[in-house]
Amino acid sequence: MKTIHHSASTRTWTGKTYQNFLGSFKEHQCGLFFDAAMETRTKRIIAEAFERCPLVLRKLANKSRLTVTLSVFNRTFENNFCTIYGTSPEYGDPHLEVGKVAIGAQLPPFVCHEACHLWWRRQLSEAQRLKYIKALLVQMSGSTQLDVTEYAHEYWVDFKDAVRGKISAATFDKLDPGAWMKLRRFAEESFCESVAKLSFPDYKSDEDWRSTVDLNARRLLIESLLCMEVA
Ligand SMILES: [Zn+2]
Repeated sequence: MKTIHHSASTRTWTGKTYQNFLGSFKEHQCGLFFDAAMETRTKRIIAEAFERCPLVLRKLANKSRLTVTLSVFNRTFENNFCTIYGTSPEYGDPHLEVGKVAIGAQLPPFVCHEACHLWWRRQLSEAQRLKYIKALLVQMSGSTQLDVTEYAHEYWVDFKDAVRGKISAATFDKLDPGAWMKLRRFAEESFCESVAKLSFPDYKSDEDWRSTVDLNARRLLIESLLCMEVA
């Protein structure tokens, strides 16, 4: 089992805020690199959640040498349940921060969501992402759609506000940079939420949210354009 050491020179993006993403990380049999000081019980819980994620995601996480810490506070520094950092390949080894509040039955889909960011940023080509975003826009503007989870839908609303509700596949090429960024952000978060929901049907089922997304159509989009087999 390998050990990785990260310093401010191997993780230039950490700055002052993310100091505790530096230090030693020990490889676990699940392929993740855990903070060397992490408790055995916590490691086991996170490893079990990770092992329930789709195999292609696990392989990518392991190839990318994903390191993991448990949050200092209840939520992550980004005020979320789980957060992944350094997802773009130029950042080197990515890092997953698991919020203490995420330890529980929903941990597997949370970890799955975060690992999907790696797929989006590291596995796909820009051409694949563009094709998907275009197809997603068609899917979302077909009728009044509520995306897969409220969390994903908030990014859609953000985009709709930016274009004042004028959405059609034809507007795709005429978006200003601000609106385009919002559409990209929505597509990425929505993809992560969709894979989490497809892989773990119970995901966020306690939330009062009635999605109108045809999950099977979404699955086909992900399988055909993003080359990911979803369980
Ligand atoms: Zn996300």
